[in-house]
Amino acid sequence: MREIVPDHMEGEQEFFEAAYHGIPPWDIGKPQKEFVRLGRSGEIVGDVLDVGCGTGENAFFLAGLGPVVCGIDAAPTAIEIARQKARERGIPVTFLVKDALNLNQIPRKFDTVIDSGLFHVLSDLERACFARNLADVLKSSGRYFMLCFSDLEPGGYGPRRVTQGEIRDTFSGGWEIRYIRPAVFENRINTAGSKAWLSSIVKIDGKK
Ligand code: SAH
Repeated sequence: MREIVPDHMEGEQEFFEAAYHGIPPWDIGKPQKEFVRLGRSGEIVGDVLDVGCGTGENAFFLAGLGPVVCGIDAAPTAIEIARQKARERGIPVTFLVKDALNLNQIPRKFDTVIDSGLFHVLSDLERACFARNLADVLKSSGRYFMLCFSDLEPGGYGPRRVTQGEIRDTFSGGWEIRYIRPAVFENRINTAGSKAWLSSIVKIDGKK
């Protein structure tokens, strides 16, 4: 069962589900270039889970490079669209409606988890719960790559901004932060993209 997170916003799931009845600002119809670069550089290895996968573009791109990829999202319409794309493109990615705060529903473990825009929608309390869920679903020495809006992004558009310190606080026990780099989050609002952090984080507990 999902842990009870007191400040979880009940309206959040409805917000995302409704967004996929149109084309949301983050749904750019192609993979985020940061994940294209990571995939091509060979940093993304083994079986991959895309958490908060939306309509699946990052997952499709990585599957095209060879890995077995599974995408999960809490919004049923996003998963429906992703499955439709998988059928049309003939790319064998598994898409499931799942809660990223309840990943132990997935009866297997992954070498790599990617996150394009999920972490920055979580509340402070959800972050700790999410990190525990990630640890459950990653193999020992498994890698987590996360792209989130940065506190350096000006203005009020979009999700909450995240600082490097907040990322380090969330992944302080049982994780090694390999890097947090300035990056770009592409979107349909700002053609130059938004300022982001790309984090590479490794699970180090060695227990699973
Ligand atoms: N990764 C996608 C979508 C980013 S938007 C892309 O790059 O296009 C954030 C996504 O996280 C949305 O699709 C939303 O439905 C999903 N999401 C939000 N909270 C979630 C949760 N608790 N569990 C799973 N998915 C969640």
